[in-house]
Amino acid sequence: MLRMALHWQILCTMLLGAALGLTLNAVGSRQPEGQSTEHPGGAVQRVGMSRAVQVTAGTMWSLDTPERILIQFEPQGDSPRRIVVGDHRLIEQLLNDEGEPWPGDAGPDVRREVVPTLKQLEAADLQAYALFQAHGRSWARCLGDWSKLLGDLFLRLLKMISIPLIITSLLSGVTGLGHANRLGKMFGRTILYYLVTSLLAITVGLILVNIINPGLGGGVEEIAQANAAGKGLAVVLFEQLQNMIPPNPFGAVAGGNFLSIIAFSLMFGICTILVGGVVAQRIHELVDATFQVMMKFTLLIIRLAPVGVFFLMLSVTATQGAGIFRTLGWYMLTVTCALAVHALIVLPGILHFVAKRNPLEYAQAMSPALLTAFSSASSNGTLPLTLTSVEKRAGISNRVGSFVLPLGATVNMDGTALYEVVAVLFIAQLTGHDLALSQQVVVAITALLASIGAAGIPHAGLVMMVIILQAVGLPTESQGLIIAVDRVLDMGRTAVNVWSDSCGCAVVSRLETQEAESPKAYVSREGDLNI
Ligand code: ASP
Repeated sequence: MLRMALHWQILCTMLLGAALGLTLNAVGSRQPEGQSTEHPGGAVQRVGMSRAVQVTAGTMWSLDTPERILIQFEPQGDSPRRIVVGDHRLIEQLLNDEGEPWPGDAGPDVRREVVPTLKQLEAADLQAYALFQAHGRSWARCLGDWSKLLGDLFLRLLKMISIPLIITSLLSGVTGLGHANRLGKMFGRTILYYLVTSLLAITVGLILVNIINPGLGGGVEEIAQANAAGKGLAVVLFEQLQNMIPPNPFGAVAGGNFLSIIAFSLMFGICTILVGGVVAQRIHELVDATFQVMMKFTLLIIRLAPVGVFFLMLSVTATQGAGIFRTLGWYMLTVTCALAVHALIVLPGILHFVAKRNPLEYAQAMSPALLTAFSSASSNGTLPLTLTSVEKRAGISNRVGSFVLPLGATVNMDGTALYEVVAVLFIAQLTGHDLALSQQVVVAITALLASIGAAGIPHAGLVMMVIILQAVGLPTESQGLIIAVDRVLDMGRTAVNVWSDSCGCAVVSRLETQEAESPKAYVSREGDLNI
């Protein structure tokens, strides 16, 4: 029977999910008018699968559109509340209420709130969130939420195997090296690659944002000065250092702390090499055998990637509003162009000239990982696929892949560094701050460090951006301006992060002379799985 290769399957289901999501978005995401519901006091409202909240008696009205959600909540015996979930810039509109289709006159006592996202509403006001989830969602959002639950099952499977896979893969690679000094050389080359490519990505971002100037002419008033609640850069980096020395390695495994796990496994592997002899031989055999089993496990889970990617794409596209893309169009275009230049010109150049590999063939070999990174927006979640694609499809040895990739998923984030620079300069332009060259250099350096500190999970880059905003004195709450489009940009930057890690494997592999002399074929040698 003719069976499509895995990357084609993933690409097809990804496009299908996106097409279905966009259709849903077009036909089912906008209610013609708001929905009103009366609810008795004391009723218990479920929130998701596992939580419930008791609601106060009253009336709730809501209007769900992709650009914003309006909720009017009138609890009996208390003043009514109007909540807008969406763009920060709606504050102004909300204050005079003109242009928004609120029902009736809420009177002078009305309390007004703006929350950027539904997630933040859930944290700030569980009751309003629960009522909205139960009675206010458009059916596009309902279906989107359901498909997110299904897509998350696939991500859970990947997360389930990622820690045992990292440990066994890293240990099998390191203990197979034979000499600790070979590890030292590989470490040096890997870090050098991470630094050079991240700096190149930042330079591309800086050049494009200064050429396109996406924030000029946006006319947004300066927002109140920063709340200095975020952590300083030195603190974040010191925490990373602390993470590398887990006081309880088992706790690190249980807590899923990647950096601690990598550092401990490396130290364990080095000590094994130093002990040497029959002990090292036995440990190597044990971890290698476990690694084979974990690899098999991963290959089986990867068969589900087309289904997982379908649901993840569907959930993202069903609820994003086209209006947002219009208002932030230039900003998105700048980030996208810069990511494209880095991914399609800079990294392939390095692949071609340094690693001596054909970029197209290499990209095709890595495509299952790249497409999954794109739809999941998580480098950590994609790691099992990246490891498998590098070893089974791109012909890189486990020794290199198991070293470069787990470390890269945590610290090498070209896409994130580039995005941070563009986003911060966009915010500066939009809020009327003209950043001098020296300040742009500060942005570049802090972006590099912030990208090292960012975790390989969705929206981590956005969270770390606070550090850069603080470093150049920009208002941290201005992040609210770009939250709405972060998910879409996160998909692109995560794919670039994973692509850079993959190219790093080819470069390090080439520099390791042993690898350079006998490159393996690109095609899968895993007969029982068509990946
Ligand atoms: N989502 C990105 C990743 O997992 C991190 C980021 O938010 O930039 O690589």
